[in-house]
Amino acid sequence: MKIYINGLFYPKEEAKISVFDHGLLYGDGVFEGIRAYNRRVFRLERHIERLFYSAKAINLSIPLSPEEFSEAILETCRQNEIENGYIRAVVTRGIGDLGLNPLHCQQPTIFIIADKILLYNPKIYQEGLTVRTVSTRISSHSSISPAIKSLNYLNKILAKIEANLSGADEGLLLNQLDHIAECTSENIFLVKNGIVMTPPVSAGLLPGITRETILSLAKEMELKTEEKNLVLYDIWTAEEVFITGTGAEIAPVVEVDGRPIGKRKPGEITLLLMKKFRELTQHSGVHIYAKEDS
Ligand code: PMP
Repeated sequence: MKIYINGLFYPKEEAKISVFDHGLLYGDGVFEGIRAYNRRVFRLERHIERLFYSAKAINLSIPLSPEEFSEAILETCRQNEIENGYIRAVVTRGIGDLGLNPLHCQQPTIFIIADKILLYNPKIYQEGLTVRTVSTRISSHSSISPAIKSLNYLNKILAKIEANLSGADEGLLLNQLDHIAECTSENIFLVKNGIVMTPPVSAGLLPGITRETILSLAKEMELKTEEKNLVLYDIWTAEEVFITGTGAEIAPVVEVDGRPIGKRKPGEITLLLMKKFRELTQHSGVHIYAKEDS
C-alpha cells in the first residue's frame, strides 16, 4: 500500500506523521471519506467541495487547488491499483508546538489513504441492523458545527461506545431540542405513509453526500420526500428506517430502541433504493484510469 503525504508516496510502514501534528494533538483538521466503485470515484467533486468548506469553516487554508486535490486522490488510487475501495483524505493544521495556537503551525499536513472499509457485518444488508438512541447529544452549531467534517469525532465515538455497550449495532444522536439528528457516521431516513423523510441539515447533521444522492433517487422514483424535524415517536412508528453514508452505503434498520420497525425486515422502499443506489454507483463517478477507459 502506498500512502500520499504532502505530495509524496510512502509505503504503509513508512507513512508517518509527527507527534507534534495538531491533527493528532488537538483533532485540529478536516477530512473526507470517499468511495470508488468500478474504477470510478463516486461524487468526487462533492467530496472535494465539502472538504474545502470544512477547511474554510475552521480557517484552514488548503495549499492545493480543488483540481490538484482531486488529482492527488486519483493518483493515490492509481498507485494502489484501486478498482473498488474507500479513500480517506485528511488535512490537518500541521506541525506546531505544545500549545493549541494554530498560528504556530506553519504548513498543513495532507495525507490520503486508499484502502477498503467494512463498517458492519455484511449480513446486516439482508437482515437489517439495530439502532439505539444514546445519551450523547449532537454538538450545537455554536460549538463545533456538525456540518464541519472535522477530525474531532469524540462525541460520535462516545455514542458508538454506548450503542455497543447496549448491544445495538448503531447509535442515534438527538440534538439539544430532542430532534433526531444522525447516527455515528450515517444520516438517517424513515418511511411513513409511503413518504421518505429525513431530518433537515439545520437539525445538526453532516450534509451527507449519500443522503443527497438518496433524496434525488427517491425523487426520480417519484416517491414523495420531506426534509423535516423528526422526533423519536416518528421513528418508533415508522414503516421503514434506513441509514446512509459513504462507508455504510444504505443499510436497513429493523429495530430502534427495542421496537421492531415494520416486520423486522428491510422494507420495500429501502430495498428499492438500495438497488437503485447500487446501479448508480456502478456507472457514475470520475474515472481513475481515464486514459485507458476513454
Ligand atoms: N454523518 C456523519 C457524522 C458522518 O461522519 C458521515 C460520513 N461521512 C455521514 C453523516 C454520511 O455522510 P456521507 O454520505 O457524505 O458519507
